[in-house]
Amino acid sequence: MTSRPTATPETAAPAAASEGTGKTARLIDILRDACPEQRALLDAFSPVLCLRETALAQEAARRAAAPAAEIPETETSAVASAGKGGMDGECAVRWAEPLLDALKQGFPAVAPVWEQLREAIRADAGLPAYLCLARRGRKRPALSTWSKEHHLSADAVNLFAEQLARLAGAAAQLGLPERESGDATCPYCGGRAEISLIHGTDGRRYLQCGHCSRLWRFKRTLCPHCGAEGNGILRHIFVDGQPDLRAVICETCRHYILEADLRPRDMPLEIGHVLSLVMGHLDALAQEEGASPLSLARPAVARAVSAPEEPVH
Ligand SMILES: [Zn+2]
Ligand SMILES: [Zn+2]
Repeated sequence: MTSRPTATPETAAPAAASEGTGKTARLIDILRDACPEQRALLDAFSPVLCLRETALAQEAARRAAAPAAEIPETETSAVASAGKGGMDGECAVRWAEPLLDALKQGFPAVAPVWEQLREAIRADAGLPAYLCLARRGRKRPALSTWSKEHHLSADAVNLFAEQLARLAGAAAQLGLPERESGDATCPYCGGRAEISLIHGTDGRRYLQCGHCSRLWRFKRTLCPHCGAEGNGILRHIFVDGQPDLRAVICETCRHYILEADLRPRDMPLEIGHVLSLVMGHLDALAQEEGASPLSLARPAVARAVSAPEEPVH
């Protein structure tokens, strides 16, 4: 007995992924030099991050080559509405198996889990989108239940679902023109900001969505969660010698966001989605101070009129 109905496999996995442009590998190299203590983590995630570059390039090319009228109806609806939860579900199906290959390369210690997930996906074409939605839709208990039912490590299933959801989320927003947002809610997919980036000679601030990785401009002095502004409202905490990588805590609402000032190390703006990987220690520091991650909080306005937040697992 399972917690969800199964579907018949319909979509074949893409042919072996071609090489990307190598941009991601260069970004990882920049970070390996900047954060030598994080090299093992970066090496483990490197195949996944490089696959993402390849996948998004192929998804963009695929979309450019197929006029809307020629895309099957199921895909048109997925693209037009960015799919359920702001994700391209067909993209999730196409890249689920290549992602498992990349995870197997980066995390070989749990290779049997990746193979079991592969079998489950081959038996149920709806599974990739389901796992993505479970991960993104604040239904992590559903992921735990599914993992338990299939005797798989919930951590490994979470990792797979998270990475696949990020890919499907980014694919759904490909090519959309620039948009603005007045808070931490992504103007493209409705996800939450995961990291704040300071870039350019004039120190412009951008927020980056943890779901689709799109960026939007944001005021330097404002809390993206509650909108508080003023002297002493935003406090930086960082590790000695690395003030450019920090957690920014709002003293009004006690939410924090990770922030990287890219200027001292001359890092490109595109590095954001890789950078958040190596800033986990700052999450720990901020949470030790009793602050909550803004990326997991419901928008302040929505929270006031809806159910309480789910606890963070
Ligand atoms: Zn987004
Ligand atoms: Zn605040």
